[in-house]
Amino acid sequence: MSPPPFHFCYHCGHHKLETVSYRQSRCPACGYSQFVTPIPAAVALVLDSEDRLLLMRRAHEPGFGKLGLPGGVIDPAESAELACARETLEETGINLPASGYTYIGTCCNRYPFQGYTWPTLDILFFARTENFDAAHAVDGEASEIVAVPLAEVVLEELAFPTHGEAVEKLRAWLAYDPR
Ligand SMILES: [Zn+2]
Repeated sequence: MSPPPFHFCYHCGHHKLETVSYRQSRCPACGYSQFVTPIPAAVALVLDSEDRLLLMRRAHEPGFGKLGLPGGVIDPAESAELACARETLEETGINLPASGYTYIGTCCNRYPFQGYTWPTLDILFFARTENFDAAHAVDGEASEIVAVPLAEVVLEELAFPTHGEAVEKLRAWLAYDPR
């Protein structure tokens, strides 16, 4: 992994930091340390009554033009399931209550942003809805909404390897708890 992306001390403004490790920078002037920690993000796996998975063709980098799952970074003071419901609504038009999302696991992802590849922790949630009639591509987020039978999703064609992992986790989870 590349060194931490910090160039100045947040505490005293000193401009030369020591790299202690891939996740820690330390200020030699005041001793203040800054850390890279995973950024939590919520990811939605939504199926309709015919076991089709809600996917969006991404309209921005990373993963421009590829299929991805709805989701995004969790806002301050927001629960992961609420973030999942909010992001799914904002990105696809599918409006489900936070209580309709069930936690199924996590995946370690990486997200290039502002010159640094940040580690993220994708928190995966499953939900069911009758159909995707309300789904529509949202400008700047997706060029189209695609519903693919869960069994037919080609993992290698997804925008992120971790979205493939997420689909595999859902398949495994449903094998035990096919609600
Ligand atoms: Zn300092």
